[in-house]
Amino acid sequence: MSDQATTTMHDAIIIGAGVCGIYMLHKLLEMGMDATVVDAAERPGGTWNKNRYPGARFDSESYTYAYSFNEEIMQEWDWSEHFAGQPETLRYLTYVVDKLGIRDHMQFNRTVTAARYDEDRCCWHLEFADGQSLSCRYLCTAIGLLSAPTKPRYEGVPCFEGESFHTYDWPEGLDYSNKRVAVIGTGATGVQIISEIADKVSELKVFQRRPNWCAPLKNSKIEDQAALKAWYPEMLEKMGQTLSGFVHSPILVPSKDLPLEEKEAVWEELYDQPGFGIWLGNYYDILLDEDANQDFSDFIARKIRQRVNDPATAEKLIPKDHGFGTRRVPLETRYFEAYNNPNVELIDIGETPIERITPTGIKTSEADYEFDIIVYATGFDAITGAFDHIDFVGRGGEKLRDKWECDPLTYLGLQIVGFPNLFSLAGPQSASVGSNFPPAIQSVVDWTTELVGYLEKNKIVSCEPTLASEQAWQADVKMGYDKTLLGNAKSWFTGYNSNVDGLDRFRHMVYFNGAPKLRESLGNESENGYPGFRMEKSPEASGQSKEDAPVEAF
Ligand code: NAP
Repeated sequence: MSDQATTTMHDAIIIGAGVCGIYMLHKLLEMGMDATVVDAAERPGGTWNKNRYPGARFDSESYTYAYSFNEEIMQEWDWSEHFAGQPETLRYLTYVVDKLGIRDHMQFNRTVTAARYDEDRCCWHLEFADGQSLSCRYLCTAIGLLSAPTKPRYEGVPCFEGESFHTYDWPEGLDYSNKRVAVIGTGATGVQIISEIADKVSELKVFQRRPNWCAPLKNSKIEDQAALKAWYPEMLEKMGQTLSGFVHSPILVPSKDLPLEEKEAVWEELYDQPGFGIWLGNYYDILLDEDANQDFSDFIARKIRQRVNDPATAEKLIPKDHGFGTRRVPLETRYFEAYNNPNVELIDIGETPIERITPTGIKTSEADYEFDIIVYATGFDAITGAFDHIDFVGRGGEKLRDKWECDPLTYLGLQIVGFPNLFSLAGPQSASVGSNFPPAIQSVVDWTTELVGYLEKNKIVSCEPTLASEQAWQADVKMGYDKTLLGNAKSWFTGYNSNVDGLDRFRHMVYFNGAPKLRESLGNESENGYPGFRMEKSPEASGQSKEDAPVEAF
């Protein structure tokens, strides 16, 4: 580590200049703190800067994804489509940064490699890949839920002589027209790419391990900006009431015992509506009851069979290992129709596994395929992956990697015992993983800045949760998994990743009890004087020498 005497000390450092980091920086600067954002990328935007693959776009409504903390921004910014494409979202985030005038407080091309807590000084020391270092009293992570891409570990991956890359690193300006392209992976990313490029490439082969339940996006241009903006107050009120933080609220009638014709009429309407309504605005028991879920899954399976001409391909596209909505539902535009193009072929690698990547393409147990481009749409070491890339070392030299080896442990998804003054704003078990990201992070950022204000005012130098509150939060998180079907499927919601050693197993990553309950938990903490935290005053504030200063619980 470099000499700490030459290390710049900030009040707060935020790692990550995406949706969350931008807002946290704004709030801390507004409080008059010396705060800075550091990011490995070359510009702000986070996930919307990095995911530049063809077809990348929102599948939550543009305006429900946007920030709501600033009325002027809401009214000034015009979204062109109900589900904006990635370039527009990146422009939006750039506009927000400049509108707030916070760019001078952002440092780019700065990759954090380690963050160590200094117990004597009650501060964090950060090390960067370029050998430099920075220190701060408050460390905030806004490092993304899906920012650690993972590729398969097939033999031969580096030997491919054409272009090959993970979707997170899509090469700028890549010409894929009239090329022979392989896409491995059929999650939300793969589905968007396949739909977008199917009729532009000469040949597309999709290598599918397990299909996902997809539903129509139904995107369209926004025709009446004034009418949309007049609806914003009502929209925000509604978003504040739903478990998911979106505008879609479930139908509070059990579907299980309803006549099939009655529920199918509702499902036909939902299938025709834009966005996540079909997942989050469906009968509530679809995500709670296996039989209710099966009826709806059968309905969607019939839709797939109607849309795909070849019955054998249609069957391969229907998930058999999980029910609708128990994994993240990709929203699609003509995805299933892509398989009706004569140049597109679906290869089920459950039936004919990939044996290796060759210099010219992909060899399965059945055939040798040649490609110009191989796209790895194989997802991410989700939520904890970005934390594992930084060597976080807390009190007593404890490593976060070790603490989270079996399962992430947090309080409120925000703080971790043994890691004082570290705020994981968008980490495991936090508001942002279980519900619409921007509104969730807004409430967490607002709450965290209020807490920081409290710490400052009371001259508290160290703040971390009590062990009891961390344990109680685990019980709460587990309850969310137990009471819904969302814990039943293997996906990043349940911590699985076959491409990382030791992660092909269940972990409690997501807070499934809903945004209102999380906000209530946060509110209870602050209103009651933070009983779930262990706070230590500075020796001067408590009138004692540092050695004698007691640990105070407020
Ligand atoms: P993902 O959902 O994890 O999907 C990864 C895909 O790659 C799966 O089909 C997986 O198969 C396959 N795969 C992984 N390893 C493989 C291997 N070794 N061999 C063969 N296939 C392999 O990842 P993603 O599609 O990138 O999406 C991640 C999340 O990003 C989404 O759930 C969503 O939250 C977010 N996202 C959002 C948007 C949006 O807002 N519009 C768009 C894209 C993504 P298995 O299913 O068998 O594991």
